[in-house]
Amino acid sequence: MSQIIDGKLVAKTVRKGLKPRIKQLKEQSVTPGLAAVLVGDDPASHTYVNSKARACEKLGVYSEVIKRPADITQDDLYGIVDGLNQNDKIHGILVQSPLPKHLDELAVTLRIDPRKDVDGFHPHNVGMMLIGNPGLRPCTPYGMVKLLEQYEIDPSGKEVVVVGRSNIVGKPIAAMLLQKADWANATVTVAHSRTANLPEVVKRADIVIAAIGRAEFITGDMVKDGAVILDVGINRVDAPDTEKGYKLVGDVDFEACSKKAAFITPVPGGVGPMTIAMLLNNTVEAAEMIAAGD
Ligand code: NDP
Repeated sequence: MSQIIDGKLVAKTVRKGLKPRIKQLKEQSVTPGLAAVLVGDDPASHTYVNSKARACEKLGVYSEVIKRPADITQDDLYGIVDGLNQNDKIHGILVQSPLPKHLDELAVTLRIDPRKDVDGFHPHNVGMMLIGNPGLRPCTPYGMVKLLEQYEIDPSGKEVVVVGRSNIVGKPIAAMLLQKADWANATVTVAHSRTANLPEVVKRADIVIAAIGRAEFITGDMVKDGAVILDVGINRVDAPDTEKGYKLVGDVDFEACSKKAAFITPVPGGVGPMTIAMLLNNTVEAAEMIAAGD
């Protein structure tokens, strides 16, 4: 039976660790500030942004949510980002994804001052991460590294198989774990929908990272005994017996895989809570860097 990696607990530890840093910033008359730009009325995006704002308030981080209708123009969105880039109260800017189809998401990311890019998606920060330099790291992958660190699971020399190659999860976690650095030094394979013999590839892994977006895709027979499994997926599946009529499951068949894995993250309560914790971390880090004049 596996040990459950408790993301809620680690996220709490991360938030606690931010308190003295926030206090120190406030002593220099700096209150870290996060602005979230929300375009359109996607209910999931509203939920995410509201929980990010609530998490800020609880920690004494200033937060602003800027809501605009789905038909906003690219230029008007640039105007908002430009204003936030200049706004001294704001140290972190995030533009909630997905944006409506007529908007160019990459162009908006490029418009954000890299020092305020708390999502870690700006090519400047992506490049700094790839070459192993300090900079703002993407929240979900960064959160996974923290989970490994807190549970003293050293990826050094281990075979890591990341299933999924998105720019926000799969590619950055692969890049982070192959760095010549503490809590890295892994031998990393990135699998995707064109990977041949995926079950065999996953079976090699000492650490499996599932970022696919398909409910319970990684089955028990795909993982080796004693593997560490980090499940990024958040999928809604029908559950007629429940009050809501649905439940959330990951990309990993938890029931079957937890019988074989040494460590496993649950969904919910695993990787998810770390994403917001690392967003807060990045906002504080950005405020520190800006205050130091970096
Ligand atoms: P994307 O849809 O951007 O990427 C999915 C990846 O999975 C792609 O690389 C795709 O391959 C690969 N894939 C799809 N089908 C298969 C298959 N049959 N075999 C092998 N690989 C496959 O997803 P994201 O990375 O954005 O998100 C992944 C999951 O994580 C989602 O459930 C999402 O909701 C969740 N998520 C959770 C977060 C959290 O905070 N916990 C944060 C971000 C995401 P290809 O490139 O070839 O198409």
